[in-house]
Amino acid sequence: MTKMALDNDAINLSQGYPDFDVPAELVERLTFHMAQGRNQYPPMQGVEALRQAIAGKVRACYGASLDHDAEITITSGATEALFVAVQAVVHPGDEVIVLDPAYDSYEPAITMAGGKTIHVPLSGEDFSVDWDRVSAAITNRTRAIMLNSPHNPTGAVLEPADLDVLAELVAKHGLYVISDEVYEHMVFDDKPHLSMVGHPDLRERSFVVSSFGKTYHATGWKVGYAIAPPALTVEFRKVHQFVTFTTHTPTQWALADYLAAHPEHHEGLPAFYQAKRDLFLDAIEGIGFDTTPSRGTYFQLANYASLSSEPDTEFVRRLTTEIGVAAIPISVFYESPPEARFVRFCFAKSDETLLEAADRLKRGLA
Ligand code: PMP
Repeated sequence: MTKMALDNDAINLSQGYPDFDVPAELVERLTFHMAQGRNQYPPMQGVEALRQAIAGKVRACYGASLDHDAEITITSGATEALFVAVQAVVHPGDEVIVLDPAYDSYEPAITMAGGKTIHVPLSGEDFSVDWDRVSAAITNRTRAIMLNSPHNPTGAVLEPADLDVLAELVAKHGLYVISDEVYEHMVFDDKPHLSMVGHPDLRERSFVVSSFGKTYHATGWKVGYAIAPPALTVEFRKVHQFVTFTTHTPTQWALADYLAAHPEHHEGLPAFYQAKRDLFLDAIEGIGFDTTPSRGTYFQLANYASLSSEPDTEFVRRLTTEIGVAAIPISVFYESPPEARFVRFCFAKSDETLLEAADRLKRGLA
């Protein structure tokens, strides 16, 4: 979609990345550490100062104390962490439950481990987890469940009751949880993010994955991390060692400095992105999209059934090539796409970009 957007000079609300820059001080710390000569391999598990800073942030956000040596590993983006976690616990013939619509890297990682992806759709208008369906999908081969809250592409978030049911299923069937929490600091309407690391039972069975790309507007830096109990971290690092061995050194030092100097950075993100969500929703009001405000992430789903009966892939092609706004068709995130017609808009863009996109949609569709 990004290529189609570029080819057609369309405003790109498709791929999830901000069109504003990383904090200038973070860039300054990066160039500082490169100039200081911090350009050689860091330890395999990541720069200690950064792992310490993550432990401090997790304690402040979720009340969990972590051993930064035994439980935190820096990775080359969340994508590496998700891949490695799957390779660490999934064996040939194992089944892994994935909730559709699902981020596109999950199933290939499971397939490469020799596992089988069992797709369970999210349900209803609010894309909540149907725990009865999840429970019915569990067999004696089920090894793990992959979860993503806040959820890309729907913006759904898990509630406390979800974690309680999950904890019961995990204990009953001895499952592992691979929890993709890259949008942990984008939860709206004064709700908290419920991290698996903050749940005393679930943290014992979980890999919690996050990404600096989302929180510091630096998706191209590709630095993330995985938190897991010591025994799982040992297995995780056996794979990480031979997938990448380690992650870009000066960026880790820069992030460590920035976290130490600005421990409050993430606190401003919910209001920052919620304002963009609301601006975009206001601006597209009256066009004919049916929307429920996104509860988390920087994505907004829009049902376009009253505007067109085209399949979503055709609708976004027309939006991009004729109307000049690129979006993502959400059928691509499903094994069996539902009838409902939704597209995903990314609102991690400057206010001017969002208003201009809404204007084009209005002129082209209303
Ligand atoms: N998980 C989800 C749900 C995502 O949306 C993304 C980024 N698009 C990632 C993982 C990957 O994060 P990273 O860029 O740090 O690999």
